[in-house]
Amino acid sequence: MVYLNGDFIAKNKASISIMDRGFLFGDGVYEVIPVYNGKIFRLQAHLDRLQKSLDSIQITNPYKTKKYLDILTQLISFSSVKDQSIYLQITRGADTQRKHIFDALIPTIYIESNPLISKTKQELSKGFSAISAQDIRWSRCDIKSISLLANILYAQDAKKHNVEEVILHRNNQITEGATSNVFMLKDNTLFTHPTGPNILSGITRDLVISSAKACKLNVQEMPFSLDDIRQADGLWVSSSTREIMPITLLDDQPINQGVIHPAWSCVFDHYQQLKND
Ligand code: PLP
Repeated sequence: MVYLNGDFIAKNKASISIMDRGFLFGDGVYEVIPVYNGKIFRLQAHLDRLQKSLDSIQITNPYKTKKYLDILTQLISFSSVKDQSIYLQITRGADTQRKHIFDALIPTIYIESNPLISKTKQELSKGFSAISAQDIRWSRCDIKSISLLANILYAQDAKKHNVEEVILHRNNQITEGATSNVFMLKDNTLFTHPTGPNILSGITRDLVISSAKACKLNVQEMPFSLDDIRQADGLWVSSSTREIMPITLLDDQPINQGVIHPAWSCVFDHYQQLKND
């Protein structure tokens, strides 16, 4: 079952107009929200970011928090799986003809939820590979836009190279991953790119920052470079579905000689506690 514009229906029965601006232009925004043990994780933070994304592209939010909570609660109850990943997208809606300029339309709201299988600590402790690439995306990466052309090309490249993620750099500064935020550990300080138009302000990013502080790490929200990473003690990527993933090989070169710094374990454990709160 999925949710579409007010109804819960079977996925293969769900359809939208070919005039939907999401289909024609990628004119819409989305959220991915994890559910742990039947509980929606950090719903308000996700809804706040959704509001920001909608405001940025001038779509009026069709629902209030309570309505989202009711819909999501019902949607996740259709499955007996306790950990799920909710995908929620809002597009500007369908017009009568294809034109770039937009009028006030009725937004299209689509929500689905799928089982979420998080990697265990043991699985994560093996470390993962990544490649780096020039960040060719637009300058409003803070909007969680459904227009993800650059990101899907990176994902395809990652698949081709058999790596987990693509780490992006712009003007010699690491911005984020193609589908994650990036952290560099050096001398007990955790660095991550500051929020702003060049990155998506990850909900997990905020939680990694608070978990890192709880683990007595200094946190610096400031840019760092590919060269800095080569000398780093650790490189992590974070997202709602990946949680906190250590990268031990970047562009075929080991980070910290391929050894995962113990700070990762502390931050990972702290994050798991937040999930259970
Ligand atoms: N940056 C990008 C480009 C992303 O696509 C994502 C998640 O999909 C993130 C960062 C991490 O965001 P969050 O932690 O809210 O999942």
